[in-house]
Amino acid sequence: MPENPSNMQIVKLYYVLETAIRYYGSLPSHAQIDGDVVMVEGGAVNPATPFDLRRWKEPPHLALANLQPDVQALRRFTLKYGILFTHPSDTVRLSDAMRFRDYLRQAWGGSDAILAQMLVDLRAGLNVTPEGLETVPDNLWMLTRLMFLHDRLRARVRICANEDCPARFFLAVRKGQKFCSHPCAVLVNVRRFRQRLGGKRKQLQNQQHTGRGKRGYLQAR
Ligand SMILES: [Zn+2]
Repeated sequence: MPENPSNMQIVKLYYVLETAIRYYGSLPSHAQIDGDVVMVEGGAVNPATPFDLRRWKEPPHLALANLQPDVQALRRFTLKYGILFTHPSDTVRLSDAMRFRDYLRQAWGGSDAILAQMLVDLRAGLNVTPEGLETVPDNLWMLTRLMFLHDRLRARVRICANEDCPARFFLAVRKGQKFCSHPCAVLVNVRRFRQRLGGKRKQLQNQQHTGRGKRGYLQAR
């Protein structure tokens, strides 16, 4: 029996390399505020060992997308994740951080133009180690983008359907997830229920109104 020709067509056209993202950066020891600028101290530029990404309960792309436009929030972010970009390496201005945040937010919202741009100027090194390959971003901003792209390719980046959510950008843990959390889902469902109830009440009131109108018409006759 001849072999199925379609089986013979299975040819590997390219090789897929698996690499782990490793971040060679360390956190500042101090951060102080001067107007709308956060100034940091400490934190080696190129430590010998990579940062343990598991130390962050929230990954940096999630924290940056939800960052509030407030210098205190930026200070907390900087102490936890480090400085966003290497030049200058010891200060970060709130307006710059917001610019980076908004760029990330547009990509998160699915802007094709921003996504294409993100892929084009993404810069990271590739290290070959006895354990395997490492993708090494230069700075926190590149790391943030790489981690975002990783989650986006897995269709995990979402925006909470609760418009009043204080942290609308989230990473889905299940398919079809529309809300960042249970409280947001409950809040929106209660609101929808009340709206429906309000609509029904109005409908009832209108019917009563029309009913009275009809009686009035009959009486007038
Ligand atoms: Zn939410």
